Amino acid sequence: NVRPLVAGNWKMNGTRDSLDQIKAISEGVKGDLSEKVESLICPPATLLYVATALCEDSPLWIGAQDCHQNASGAHTGEISADMIADCFGTHVIVGHSERRTDHAETDHLVRAKAIAANAAELTAIICIGETADERKSGQTLDILKRQLAGSVPDDANAENTVIAYEPVWAIGTGLTPTSENVAEAHAFMRAELTRRFGDEGAKMRILYGGSVKPSNAKELMSVDNVDGALIGGASLKASDFLAIYNAYS
Ligand code: 13P
Repeated sequence: NVRPLVAGNWKMNGTRDSLDQIKAISEGVKGDLSEKVESLICPPATLLYVATALCEDSPLWIGAQDCHQNASGAHTGEISADMIADCFGTHVIVGHSERRTDHAETDHLVRAKAIAANAAELTAIICIGETADERKSGQTLDILKRQLAGSVPDDANAENTVIAYEPVWAIGTGLTPTSENVAEAHAFMRAELTRRFGDEGAKMRILYGGSVKPSNAKELMSVDNVDGALIGGASLKASDFLAIYNAYS
């Protein structure tokens, strides 16, 4: 009953040339499967406006990779949630591990960004996940619990919020957790979300991210409580993204 979401995060990749890939994806997701599965690409902000224009007649959503926590003001280089909405973006990723690492983003800040996103009527895709050391020392579930508690706003619901579980050690490494590990983490997050948000938490989408590719998509997407994917590298090529999306067919 939860509609899965297959989402691509282009990170700091993509120039005007890459719009061909977005066009191909926007065409490729037209069809019956789009009734059952949502799709989203988050290109760099420089391509946001032109990308949404390209996808006007496609079910493909276009989103951004980050937003500022404030609505406007003296914050050189930053982009507000309203600006994303103004470009017809519908979603924004917040709290990606690369932002947590490169820009020292805390759970508190990530929550403020999610609140700003929701205020602009964007769906916030809130990223969480443990590092290799945290997994080795058996802290994975504690970390997920703390990040969920700290990063997810109190008025999160199944419409305005998506959770993305991205084990830091699985991002861009070709390594993925076993299906059992993914199942354990997702069941734990589901229980936490349901305890806090009731029915909305039971319906909130929990994506898996980290080295998702065409060859492992079917297995990962069939794990209980995995409601889609957040794809980095493999989302840059339309054929790979569409192969992952079509794992649901
Ligand atoms: P990769 O799919 O390249 O491992 O990246 C995952 C990710 O960080 C998506 O946000």
